[in-house]
Amino acid sequence: MSSLEKLKRQLNYDKTFDCVQCGYCLPACPTYETMGEEKHSPRGRINLVKMAGEGRIGLETLREPLEKCLGCRACQTVCPTNVQYGEILEGAKHALDQNDTKSRARQITEDLIFNKLFPSRRWMNTIGNATWFYQKTGLQKLAGRIGLTSLAPLNLDKFEAVLPAVPSPMERSKTPNFLEARTNKKLRVGFITGCVMDSVFHQTNKNTIELLSIAGAEVVIPGSQTCCGALHAHSGKMETARELAKRNILAFEQTDVDYIVNNAGGCGAMLAEYHHLFKDDEEWSTRAQRFVNRSKDVSVILSMLDGLEFTKEINEVVTYQASCHLTHVQKVTIEPKALLQKIPGIRYKEMKDYDRCCGSAGIYNIVNYEDSMDILDLKMEKAKQTSAATIVTTNPGCLLQMQLGIKREDLEDSVRAVHLIDLLMEARPVFKRETNGQISALPFEGQAYELMNE
Ligand code: SF4
Ligand code: SF4
Repeated sequence: MSSLEKLKRQLNYDKTFDCVQCGYCLPACPTYETMGEEKHSPRGRINLVKMAGEGRIGLETLREPLEKCLGCRACQTVCPTNVQYGEILEGAKHALDQNDTKSRARQITEDLIFNKLFPSRRWMNTIGNATWFYQKTGLQKLAGRIGLTSLAPLNLDKFEAVLPAVPSPMERSKTPNFLEARTNKKLRVGFITGCVMDSVFHQTNKNTIELLSIAGAEVVIPGSQTCCGALHAHSGKMETARELAKRNILAFEQTDVDYIVNNAGGCGAMLAEYHHLFKDDEEWSTRAQRFVNRSKDVSVILSMLDGLEFTKEINEVVTYQASCHLTHVQKVTIEPKALLQKIPGIRYKEMKDYDRCCGSAGIYNIVNYEDSMDILDLKMEKAKQTSAATIVTTNPGCLLQMQLGIKREDLEDSVRAVHLIDLLMEARPVFKRETNGQISALPFEGQAYELMNE
């Protein structure tokens, strides 16, 4: 195969012909809205990939336009010819990664982040412990007071300031690997803990497991699962993404569950496309497809269980910032809003363009900070128009980004951002027990879940 043929294959060049250049996707693209250039639109990016595949421009010309793409996939939802933009983007990112001449320092950094840190539960746990220690001992306040945080690279100080309080190592070590259904069992589900979710957003994971159990699911949490591989795939590191996918497929094949549940829109989108990773491998492609068929967002499963009732009123105006990967890849739009509206007292107000990316997009807001803030500022304008006191999201990245937006707007005293699951838990769900044919409804008192090993 000639090198140009090989490049065409890497770039998913054939898929670029599905684009008929109509431009319907332009108004849906956040980077076209803020940057205003064709090369930062879906149509422009697809054209550049096509030209690179034909050897009319060098591969490097693709780098900036593709690195500035959020990967939000809003263009895919509106495209009348069903262009598979996600596959074109991932193919091009992979080709760029393969053809990049990286310095030794960059190779070591990438190896540390992508191969050592994210796939390792031990390392993610260590990060969680270090964050807890930093927050709990007063180090965080001291570092802020003497201006140390402003020395952090890549604007990390901005994100450090909006991180949630991380539970103690003792609290986090209580994660069970099995929890029985508190209400009469309707389903057996597996739970994807995620890497960042399990260390920094541990409380949301704990609430997810509890809520599933309250709604009537028996929950299995396999200890051998790992990071979903989304950050790897979006950075063109397809080999590592495949390895991580195989580990997760194996971990859940042994559980005999009806569904595999996640609570992070970005991770869920990756899990929903595991079969794309194994196009040339029949055996793993079949196993991945079986995994994909059972993979669901927690809002879908809770809606399916259809048993949630709440005892506490939340008398607030609430709006919803959708995760783009939940909306545009997993196509889940109705369930999160329907669950929200079950909470007594809530006044739901829809935000204009609620399904448009907030600029978080994995690590986009870290590596493209200024561009991301332009997108966030537009988002916050629309959030403010709702006068909501609570902005609900379904993904950790969106949650941090909305917290950052609230801080930038100086609204910390009147507005908060929360994960959907945490708000449902705050409304004190009821679980039902059947004794001698009588059903009694008991409010959930927030008790810690028990360690029940299968
Ligand atoms: S990606 Fe779809 S919507 Fe956008 S220009 Fe191409 S065909 Fe039209
Ligand atoms: S994925 Fe999002 S940012 Fe990228 S081209 Fe499509 S709409 Fe624009």
